Amino acid sequence: MSDAYDLVVIGGGPGGYVAAIRAAQLGMKTACVEMRGSLGGTCLNVGCIPSKHLLHASHAYEEAGHAFANLGVKVSGLELDLKQMLKSKDEVVDGLTSGIEFLFKKNKVDYVIGRGSIKGAGTIIATADDGKETTLKTKNILIATGSETTPLPGIEIDEKKIVSSTGALDLPKVPKKMVIIGGGVIGLELGVVWRRLGAEVEVVEFLDRILPTMDLELGKHMQRSLKKAGFTFRLSTKVTAAKTTRGGVTLTVEPAKGGDAEDIKADVALVAIGRRPYTEGLGLEEAGVEMDRGKVKIDSHYRTNVAGIWAIGDVVDGPMLAHKAEDEGSVAVEIMAGQAGHIDYDCIPSVVYTWPEVASVGRTEEQLKEQGIAYKVGKFPFQANSRARASGGGEGFVKILAEAETDQVLGAHIIGPDAGTLIAEIALGMEFGASSEDIARTCHAHPTLNEAVKEAALAVDGRALHM
Ligand code: FAD
Ligand code: NAD
Repeated sequence: MSDAYDLVVIGGGPGGYVAAIRAAQLGMKTACVEMRGSLGGTCLNVGCIPSKHLLHASHAYEEAGHAFANLGVKVSGLELDLKQMLKSKDEVVDGLTSGIEFLFKKNKVDYVIGRGSIKGAGTIIATADDGKETTLKTKNILIATGSETTPLPGIEIDEKKIVSSTGALDLPKVPKKMVIIGGGVIGLELGVVWRRLGAEVEVVEFLDRILPTMDLELGKHMQRSLKKAGFTFRLSTKVTAAKTTRGGVTLTVEPAKGGDAEDIKADVALVAIGRRPYTEGLGLEEAGVEMDRGKVKIDSHYRTNVAGIWAIGDVVDGPMLAHKAEDEGSVAVEIMAGQAGHIDYDCIPSVVYTWPEVASVGRTEEQLKEQGIAYKVGKFPFQANSRARASGGGEGFVKILAEAETDQVLGAHIIGPDAGTLIAEIALGMEFGASSEDIARTCHAHPTLNEAVKEAALAVDGRALHM
């Protein structure tokens, strides 16, 4: 049995590892139990980072093949070396995951490799792959076990022909045709990677639109952009069966509302219909921890119903995003340490890292209408932004939604170059309760993409200058 800890975190993803480091900073004796064999969770190992590396690498390949010539840069003998592309992705992942180990050592967080199981408040058993058990005694337990791919009933993921996002990050060759089940974030990001590398990509989406949690205008623009890039879409369609054949996969689809079925053939099918909280083997039922629709139930201070057991990240309610998990990790630990921690859930940005990028913060137009809130819209196209034009990225727009009476910014939605970086200034403004006039009166450097944000803020009051 090991020494008593102030905190044992189960799960070393962005929620768990950040919580462990923050706890150590606050003077808590801390351990983190992780079963994967490397730190960083879904995000660093099989999520955010490898997918962004492949988006970066495939973008470079596409630019070299199509865009460079326009700039007067001639490339001959362009060739895809997929093996090297995947290797460079793995190197980035290895570098970053071992970086977290270094941070643990630096902050004196004990890293325990094994599957953690709660044996009542205050005790955790970590079981390593070889069956060796370590018992950890602790004042507090933080559940940060994340999420896993939601399976599609009756469809078996073999990670070769029918893959989850994990298999789609490691395909040994470019499929001739790839069918993506689910037009959400994973489907579009990974579809873009394989489309750029040469695959024919078809998206089958149950709803009548893609990116259903985002502002409708963004979803529509994104679909047009992807169609131009060669994607095909079957909206309002459901996949009812998928079976592997010698040559690939045969999927059976039918209209979402029911109707005639049809078969589609592909080399690879990606199941990307969402993710669900992961709690297998955690011992939550035995420990008496309450669940709510598959998620660990917490109060506004990240406490479960069992004293001394807390939870954060993908395993609890809210958007399944790495930065949301990280912030919850820090804040939960600060509350544990007796400090005041707080997250404004209206100011959590979300980004789709395709080209053009898509980024949102706050409420969508659809939500404002539904909530009966009167609002003003300011919109500015990147076509009229000098930096976007100079850098070959004149597609898309910035849209700012402000409360009609007070002018307070309630939401912002961007599609275009570097949208994921641009959204940060609006999120910061919203944290401080900014009005659109506050943003409009802030001096923005020229020539920058951020000037499109300023112009959209001016446009809320009908006074954009370059349009
Ligand atoms: P996780 O990262 O899932 O970590 C949980 C960890 O707990 C895992 O390592 C798991 O092995 C471990 N674990 C589980 N049970 C036990 C146990 N009993 N004992 C010990 N260890 C256990 N989000 C973004 O914000 N930006 C992105 O660009 C982005 N891209 C993504 C791309 C893909 C392909 C995927 C799949 C996800 C992406 N996400 C992205 C989502 C992001 O990865 C998650 O929101 C984030 O990782 C959640 O963090 P977490 O710490 O809650 O859980
Ligand atoms: P998602 O919720 O973004 O999209 C799933 C899509 O599948 C939805 O459009 C949904 O309508 C559709 N769908 C559901 N059931 C279906 C069915 N039977 N047939 C056809 N379509 C169906 O989920 P995801 O893309 O799997 O991503 C999972 C999570 O990972 C998301 O919550 C996201 O936040 C996170 N993630 C984030 C990023 C990022 O921040 N850039 C990237 C990847 C993943």
